[in-house]
Amino acid sequence: MAGYMCPHYEDYTVGIICALGFEMNAVRHVLDREHVNLPIKPNDSNIYILGEIKRHNVAIACLPGSQSKSSAAIAATNMARIFPMVRYRFLVGIGGGAPSENNDTRLGDVVYDYGKGTESGFTHKTFTGSPPAALRATIYKMQSDHLSRSSQISGYLRRLILQPCVGYQRPSEEDTRFQADYPHTSGQQSCGQCDRTRCFQTSLRPEDDPRIFYKLIASGDRMIKSAAKRIAISNGLGGSVLCFKMEAAGLIIEFPCVASRGISDYADSHKNDAWQPYAAATAAACARELLTHLEPEQVSRIILSDLAGKFP
Ligand SMILES: [Zn+2]
Repeated sequence: MAGYMCPHYEDYTVGIICALGFEMNAVRHVLDREHVNLPIKPNDSNIYILGEIKRHNVAIACLPGSQSKSSAAIAATNMARIFPMVRYRFLVGIGGGAPSENNDTRLGDVVYDYGKGTESGFTHKTFTGSPPAALRATIYKMQSDHLSRSSQISGYLRRLILQPCVGYQRPSEEDTRFQADYPHTSGQQSCGQCDRTRCFQTSLRPEDDPRIFYKLIASGDRMIKSAAKRIAISNGLGGSVLCFKMEAAGLIIEFPCVASRGISDYADSHKNDAWQPYAAATAAACARELLTHLEPEQVSRIILSDLAGKFP
């Protein structure tokens, strides 16, 4: 895969930030081709994987160790400085799901969001300092396309889950969601002692066909580990939040972006990590699908218009 030389930092127009190494690795496996590394620039703590998807040159960065909002902000600032032509920005990875009566989100489903978070707790403002209009328009178009014809997501996802050595298969653990007022049995590592009669009866989706939701992802500076808190925060934000993520608040302020989040748990006390790799894979496959709907020429036009604004 590696070997093709893309010679300049200025050639990269798409930036993807992942919080965790296995999230970055999932995106790496949906690249068409990986590029060789460029020389490291001073004062940049980010680690990058470079490559391309459908004629877009893509730089993928991973947070350096810490999941805090400050490390996310530093990663975003560094990427903006090192890759000055990046105009399409994405956060790709996992998040905690917030199912509701109207939105039957399950583990492995993906939530897209293209608004803007703020730093004060879990909040969300749509379209304030949001991504370029062309990118938002493409999401609407893709959403519409998916209503009338099937997407390529299954194919991209199969590429990941059919490689046993890569480790992105769907886990054998059930998709178990307990009722909101039923907490995890304290002191237990797993849900083996939890009362299964307090579970919602859900059927699994086809392994290569996650459902996509276009809803809010609430960002904040703490993990949500309680169904009651999850519901309270979602209700406080109009009931339309479908996903929670910790580090993104600090990031989004510096990094107006589209987030693609695979749901790996239900943000409650029953959290377990088994679904994380598969959820990262579904998020990566969906991010790739979005990039295939974007023409590189659209990015070029945005860059030219930015430059014309700077040097009239
Ligand atoms: Zn439990």
